Amino acid sequence: MKPDMPQARRIGVFGGAFDPPHLAHRALLETALNELRLDALHVVPTGDAWHKPRKLTDAAHRLAMVRLAFQDVPRICVDSREIDRAGPSYTIDTLHQIAAEAPGAELFLIMGADQAAALTSWREWQAIVQLAIISVATRAHPSNTNDSIEAERLFPKRFLHLGLPALHVSATQIRSNIANGQPVQTLVSEPVARYIADHHLYLSH
Ligand code: ATP
Repeated sequence: MKPDMPQARRIGVFGGAFDPPHLAHRALLETALNELRLDALHVVPTGDAWHKPRKLTDAAHRLAMVRLAFQDVPRICVDSREIDRAGPSYTIDTLHQIAAEAPGAELFLIMGADQAAALTSWREWQAIVQLAIISVATRAHPSNTNDSIEAERLFPKRFLHLGLPALHVSATQIRSNIANGQPVQTLVSEPVARYIADHHLYLSH
């Protein structure tokens, strides 16, 4: 009998501010799980996001909402390492750690087209592209960045596009709706909506 070979695994990594997590995030991660046939998908709320101009909501709130939003999705691992880590969050550090924890695994970094278009500004972006297949979801208007992914032009074999229709949902819109007293029921899951209300989040701009 052959000795047991370690199982090569397909692991997804989906980072974001999740301020708050919304239904397009969920549709994106469900599409990625199925289309990429992932064995596991790490959802990684960012700690101190170096590339977001806005001050983010407390990490403890965002982590709690991510758990509520996605905990019932199979093969999801809510991964708090960037929140637990001091200093700014860099995707390259997270990918190196996950690669070291799962030797031989194939990594897929999942993101919307807005983030993919900005990838060449990320720390060690070429190393990111070598470590993981960049798996891109179309972003609906007003992000008009879907056709200008510079990193993909340079490394086309390291990119794939997910079959998710463009969804008109953003965390910005949700925060604005709440601050303006508009409903968000069609944009976030019920437990997340309840958490936001219970903790009086996003009431001011
Ligand atoms: P904000 O409006 O505050 O910038 P966001 O809605 O873009 O937030 P993030 O938490 O920053 O949400 O996004 C995490 C990841 O999910 C990013 O890669 C982003 O591109 C992707 N994403 C968010 N919303 C969508 C959407 N509607 N369609 C496709 N991808 C999305």
